Amino acid sequence: MNAKENRALLVVDVQNDFCAGGSLAVEGAEQVVVALNRHIAEATAAGLTVYAARDWHPAVTVHFAPQGGPWPVHCVQGTEGARFHPGLRLPAGTILVSKGSDPDSHGYSAFEGRTADGTSLLSDLKARGVGHLLLGGLATDYCIRQTTLDALAGGLNVTVLDDAIAGVDAEASKRALVEMRGHGAQFITSSTTGCPAPCVAPPPHPRRERPPRSARRR
Ligand SMILES: [Zn+2]
Repeated sequence: MNAKENRALLVVDVQNDFCAGGSLAVEGAEQVVVALNRHIAEATAAGLTVYAARDWHPAVTVHFAPQGGPWPVHCVQGTEGARFHPGLRLPAGTILVSKGSDPDSHGYSAFEGRTADGTSLLSDLKARGVGHLLLGGLATDYCIRQTTLDALAGGLNVTVLDDAIAGVDAEASKRALVEMRGHGAQFITSSTTGCPAPCVAPPPHPRRERPPRSARRR
């Protein structure tokens, strides 16, 4: 990793429909939100640009089962399901990237997306001199996989935040990790610059938080 290289953080599809209670909920999404908030805080403290990609589908698209596609209806433009998870703490100045708006495309990759002013993600990254993308979010076997492969194909270095991703299918996710690594993606659990092995954080704690009254027990 070149320490002088400009880096940016990309948060992929952390939207209500992909989280608990959503129409296409991904197991582990809640832990992804917790881990991503830590990465976002680290990235913000380090002065990195933060991007947030979102699935932003029209109501009718080849992507959806009623039209013969592979997925239940999800993340339709303007709906509650398309909103970011309410616990996701995106900083002011986060650059929004919308994808999947073309009714004839699945839009798995954030590199198919555009910013609010219509700039492609790759153009926006290049304009800011970003050469290294850190990324996490949902889902490992679809949007993380395709976004990572497209970023590498676009000439960027890519680090996948290993504790901040979750997949739809366990086996497909394992294959996706091998494929991403094979194409040159790195995997870490801390977004801190040049973080050596000893400062890599443990995986997020799987237990639920205690209810507040237990803390006051005597
Ligand atoms: Zn979608």
